[in-house]
Amino acid sequence: MNIIVCVKQVPDTTDVRIDPKTNTLIREGVASILNPFDAYALEEAVQIKEKCGGKVTVITMGPPQAEAVLRDAIAIGADEVILISDRAFAGADTLATSYTLSQAIRKIGNADLILCGKQAIDGDTAQVGPGIAAYLDMPQIAFVKKVREISNEKAIVERMVEDGYEVVESSLPLLMTVVKDINEPRLPSLRGKMLAKKAEIPVWKAADLNADVSRIGLEGSPTWVDKIATPPPRSGGEIFQGEAAEIVEAFIKKLQADQLLQ
Ligand SMILES: Cc1cc2nc3c(=O)[nH]c(=O)nc-3n(C[C@H](O)[C@H](O)[C@H](O)COP(=O)(O)OP(=O)(O)OC[C@H]3O[C@@H](n4cnc5c(N)ncnc54)[C@H](O)[C@@H]3O)c2cc1C
Repeated sequence: MNIIVCVKQVPDTTDVRIDPKTNTLIREGVASILNPFDAYALEEAVQIKEKCGGKVTVITMGPPQAEAVLRDAIAIGADEVILISDRAFAGADTLATSYTLSQAIRKIGNADLILCGKQAIDGDTAQVGPGIAAYLDMPQIAFVKKVREISNEKAIVERMVEDGYEVVESSLPLLMTVVKDINEPRLPSLRGKMLAKKAEIPVWKAADLNADVSRIGLEGSPTWVDKIATPPPRSGGEIFQGEAAEIVEAFIKKLQADQLLQ
């Protein structure tokens, strides 16, 4: 089985900085980590390979430093990795990101299963997985919490819905986005870390993807982040004590004082 995993490098949550000119995240030189949801997608890919045989290829679109998450992937069992990096991809919104990744997956060819995380903790849109499936005209199942059965022909999975889960069956090729409940990511082995350290990381640029340049990066993005602002820190709440009637009265007075109630 040819399994492809899309992983994203994201700023370590404590260190988010915005470029005031482009309103996009400053990624260069910022402490970055593997997007937490993608660690579960990686683990699931390796487990399915162990069950069904095949190969795990991991791709990421990002600046040159994003190669670090590909070394993480090798350390836990990826067979091949590709860094999709070009200044032309910068500032991509989810449409342009999905298009670029789908071009890379077409170039790899013969994908039986594509795994993505539920969402990235920086953009938080959860749009890229379904976007890739749309470009590749492939069935997709989002929010997968358990793979009950999988073979080269079909998969039966449990996907999370608001009030529980539903069981879905699909033929392969298939794209799935996974949630945290699906598995327990393994720790990298010493052998894995050694392999990761000396691995050569191939880099694909826009020209390598045969991409339509009007559909990549900021140019290819119908949406752009107009303004990002850090919300003001919230002051502590107020606790009303006393009998219910007293509390209601005090609360109404407070709302009126704050002109939140006539
Ligand atoms: C604060 C902020 C807000 C943003 N808001 C929007 C918005 O409203 N609309 C919009 O179009 N763009 C938005 N963007 C840009 C968006 O982050 C990028 O387009 C990004 O590349 C993909 O979207 P995402 O981060 O939401 O990923 P998601 O769609 O949440 O990611 C889901 C999964 O897709 C895969 N994936 C995502 N990005 C990559 C990648 N670069 N390489 C490999 N796999 C990947 C991973 O498996 C990931 O788990 C925003 C960015 C920021 C920082």
